[in-house]
Amino acid sequence: MLGPVSCIAAVTYGCNSRCVMCDIWKRDADVARELTPDEYRWLPRSLKSVNVSGGEPFLRDDLPEIVAVMSETCPRARIVISTNGLLPERIEAAVARISETSPRGSDPAGAVAVRVSVDGLGEVHDRIRGVPGAYERAMETVRRLQRLGVPDLGLAATLTEDSVGEITRVKEKADQLGIRFVMSAAHSSPIFFGEQEVERPHSKESVGEVLSLMRDSLRSWRPYDWAKAYYLRGVAEYIKGRPRRMPCRAGIDFFFLDPWGDVYPCNIGGTKMGNMRESDFKSMQRDTVDVVRESVESCSVQCWMVCTVAPPMSRRPLKPLAWMLGAKFLGLDTRLDQ
Ligand code: SF4
Ligand code: SF4
Repeated sequence: MLGPVSCIAAVTYGCNSRCVMCDIWKRDADVARELTPDEYRWLPRSLKSVNVSGGEPFLRDDLPEIVAVMSETCPRARIVISTNGLLPERIEAAVARISETSPRGSDPAGAVAVRVSVDGLGEVHDRIRGVPGAYERAMETVRRLQRLGVPDLGLAATLTEDSVGEITRVKEKADQLGIRFVMSAAHSSPIFFGEQEVERPHSKESVGEVLSLMRDSLRSWRPYDWAKAYYLRGVAEYIKGRPRRMPCRAGIDFFFLDPWGDVYPCNIGGTKMGNMRESDFKSMQRDTVDVVRESVESCSVQCWMVCTVAPPMSRRPLKPLAWMLGAKFLGLDTRLDQ
């Protein structure tokens, strides 16, 4: 089926964190303009992945209703909620309600995956998040969701120069807890970070840490981990300022939907494609095809994030596959001139 396969839906710009690398918590969330659960019926049926983000999505009382509509509208989509994990009780209650109301059945919370942001252990995380006790609260959220039986649960770490060296510790923590681990490098985004320019990690140590995680993934015998290694290779190249390994298909394969219905090719910014209260995705895409293509082709960010990399990887798997086999069995292309 043609159509976009992936989207990030920020369901609110309200946030209870005070992260040093983000300005969202400083802006007016204007919750009165937020999309209602029913309005998410607009989402294209072709989606295979919906990342529910914010702000902090669990601040919305109607998040379970939103997820229920998404599950019904996009039956093939994996729905992943990203959270800062600062409200353990509220999050536990909402995820329990999601499993009760899920049109996908009563599998304990199997209707959604959850990623809890953790950028370092203990005080490092508290400092980056600007909230004393943030790490403990995030861990409490993880414990509660484990007890609830959420099968697809993980920690998500963002690499900045403040967290170099900590990302490996977060991965070890995830391994210890028996849950998943994802990481990305910080990207500047006028949508998320307002005027603030987020510095991408740039040190030799940050590249070294990512390459070490990549080699670790290559030691595994699970092809899933080799795909992660390919992704991490791209992260190291992004840090070095190199061009993306795969072409970007923002606005075609994936898009970003903000809490008020504005649609963008990606969450880093760029040309607005329209508002979903006024047009369906296909018409929006048709009406903006030239301007979107131009903005994507001239994009200087060359981002490398799971949401912008997974769609081209699944559409054109041969190149990543060739890299994975060469790297795993022959050790090819696993170094990067520092
Ligand atoms: S990075 Fe996420 S958790 Fe932190 S202030 Fe921004 S939206 Fe909130
Ligand atoms: S490469 Fe540029 S246009 Fe493409 S997803 Fe990244 S920031 Fe957006």
